[in-house]
Amino acid sequence: MSKIVIIGAGISGHTAAAHLRRKLNKEHEVVVVSPNRNYQWVPSNIWVGIGRMKAEELIFPLEPLYKRKGIGYKQAKVVSFHPEGNATETKPYVAVEYVFGADQGKTENVTYDYLINATGPKLAFDMTEGLNPGTNKAFSVCTYDHAQHAWHGLKDLIDQLKGSNKKAKVLIGTGHAKATCQGAAFEYILNVEKELVRHGVRNQVEVTWISNENDLGDFGMDGMLLDYNGLNMRSKDMIEMIFEDRGIKWILGAGVNKIEDGVAHYENLEGEFKSETYDFAMLIPAFSGHGFKGYDKNGADITDKLFKGFMIVDADYTPKPYEEWTVQDWPETYQNPSYKNIFAPGIAFAPPHSISKPRKSKNGTDIFPAPPRTGMPSGITARLVADNIIDSIKSGKESLHHKGSMGNMGAACIASAGFGMTQGSGVSITTYPIVPDYIKYPQTGGRDINKTFGDIGLAGHWVKLSLHYAFLWKAKMRPFWWLIPE
Ligand SMILES: Cc1cc2nc3c(=O)[nH]c(=O)nc-3n(C[C@H](O)[C@H](O)[C@H](O)COP(=O)(O)OP(=O)(O)OC[C@H]3O[C@@H](n4cnc5c(N)ncnc54)[C@H](O)[C@@H]3O)c2cc1C
Repeated sequence: MSKIVIIGAGISGHTAAAHLRRKLNKEHEVVVVSPNRNYQWVPSNIWVGIGRMKAEELIFPLEPLYKRKGIGYKQAKVVSFHPEGNATETKPYVAVEYVFGADQGKTENVTYDYLINATGPKLAFDMTEGLNPGTNKAFSVCTYDHAQHAWHGLKDLIDQLKGSNKKAKVLIGTGHAKATCQGAAFEYILNVEKELVRHGVRNQVEVTWISNENDLGDFGMDGMLLDYNGLNMRSKDMIEMIFEDRGIKWILGAGVNKIEDGVAHYENLEGEFKSETYDFAMLIPAFSGHGFKGYDKNGADITDKLFKGFMIVDADYTPKPYEEWTVQDWPETYQNPSYKNIFAPGIAFAPPHSISKPRKSKNGTDIFPAPPRTGMPSGITARLVADNIIDSIKSGKESLHHKGSMGNMGAACIASAGFGMTQGSGVSITTYPIVPDYIKYPQTGGRDINKTFGDIGLAGHWVKLSLHYAFLWKAKMRPFWWLIPE
């Protein structure tokens, strides 16, 4: 009998748990440890942040589902890793602390045969002074409760503007010099702009994009050359066209470093220190590792065998200049090299390097996006990790046949650009592969131009809405859920 412990119930952890439970018979134990009692379909937070969807429409409680499906569940957070056990516990374990109910504050050592670390990123608001969701008129849409706050902030502004001559400024983008998730901020700025139009206050508001990207449309992927209606177009030009069409201004190469009430301070690549005032902002924080510690059986600190910010996996972490980076640096099995029964799919693994070209300001400050790891690869890597564990359990020996690198995986980013079955719109960008392969695709910016394309129109909104329902169906493990791909 094997016991598989999964920490985190986001896209990655939940996907892994679902596949493990479906394919392993009940003599094997599958246990999920996660502090949030709800599953959330994160991409739809954008619509919560504009008041067009209620948080209840994209969340559901995990415990009843897990009970029905025979998945163990602990509403707790992992505090430390003990992959060799300790003086009294021979099995590897994670120390967890319960966060809810009668057990709140209680700690427990949860032993495992296989461990899947799917804890995603820490939303590191603390890395930018004054950036705290819901304060200083600056908000976030990274979780459903943040998105609810954001909608209240935006609605207050819209209410103040309606029937007045007041002017206002909206600022949306990244809130740290090395933040990622530009895609989510891009989606939000388009939705906010559309809502301002819908509420009849657009002409009173200056809408500005602020980002650590060197070029528009970099998205932490170094931008892309894409096929747009049969033409080869750079994402830079496509996004510029979209912003110009909607009257959205932009500030690029900006490392936001301090937020005061209605003022964002930033340094740009020119080394200038500037500020931008606003009445409503949504700024994506830096993502960091959770700061977990690891200990060996004697209690010695072995954190550096497990973590490099995020978790160490089968990537090539050798420091090398940008010109020498290759797709082969990226991991394929998400297995920790020191402890082979530990895996880290989704956002939890440490990337070998950024995908965007690293840039420094004239003062030496790093200002460029960290690599994005979107929902699709999070689901795919979770499934392949689950499949390798299943094969290993069934064959009785380590099996790592299932492989997938961000260098041979695509990302489909469908940014809704306004809500509504007939009025909605979407910007769809499909990129293949996520990490450019300059050897395979030397003429087209490291990407396969037949699989890298952009589209603008109502269809994008419909696809995004369909994905919302399809992925919630899948997450709720409704009939034939496994037929819906990751
Ligand atoms: C607003 C927004 C919109 C987005 N839109 C899209 C989109 O349209 N398309 C797309 O492909 N991607 C999108 N993304 C990205 C996508 O949401 C992420 O790639 C995905 O959620 C990552 O999944 P994950 O499971 O690795 O991490 P997460 O979803 O962050 O899950 C991590 C889990 O770990 C848990 N956890 C944290 N700490 C601990 C601990 N100490 N112990 C135990 N558990 C812990 C958390 O509670 C959570 O359940 C969007 C992201 C945002 C923020």
